[in-house]
Amino acid sequence: MTHVLITSGPTRQYLDPVRYLTNASSGRMGRALAEAALALGYRVTIVSGPVALRYPRQAELVEVESTEQMLQACQQFFPRCDGLIAAAAPCDYRPQVVSDRKLVKTGQPLTLVLEETPDIVATLAAGKRPEQWIVGFALETHDARLNALAKLERKSCDLMVINGPEAMNAATNHVEIVDRQGRQIDCITGSKELVAQALLAVIDQLLVRRLPPSL
Ligand code: C5P
Repeated sequence: MTHVLITSGPTRQYLDPVRYLTNASSGRMGRALAEAALALGYRVTIVSGPVALRYPRQAELVEVESTEQMLQACQQFFPRCDGLIAAAAPCDYRPQVVSDRKLVKTGQPLTLVLEETPDIVATLAAGKRPEQWIVGFALETHDARLNALAKLERKSCDLMVINGPEAMNAATNHVEIVDRQGRQIDCITGSKELVAQALLAVIDQLLVRRLPPSL
């Protein structure tokens, strides 16, 4: 049985015990992907940051908070999986210093120094088995195709799903799926459920059954 790992939702990076950096990711795309994968008969493991929605009960759920925890959970589960769909929006930055006490106001501006968090997809790709596949998402505000293809290369993905910032916390999505040769495999507009079903159909054909694309 094909076993897929799906990352979903945002992550949180704390600056003190009660404040954190995050983003507006809702986990809806991850949930829709999990439902579509289950409908194809796949086994599904979801590693998710904090979200308000419920994932399908048939999926195995691993809940995490920070990007480092998401990476750690993925490193534990990815070796048992055939592929990864990285739909999460992990925070790319964390405060360099995390205060163990709540920061108090001083009447002066507060300067935060941020450092990069690890890239989950790139880290998993570096240690993956040759037969394992990876599908990344690229949320781009400009030069979408160019930036997405650079990310596909840098993160060693098999397919990249390009979408815009309007996808964040929305019910619908407009995506373009590109492969390693830069070919447009599909272009889908509609509900996240429809996008997820179409993406899973492409994954099933190209990456699971390894059939050529129907361009
Ligand atoms: O570089 P960017 O954040 O646009 O790349 C998006 C892709 O990389 C998504 O598939 C996202 O889940 C993944 N990602 C990751 N670890 C990060 C940041 C993004 O796996 N720290």
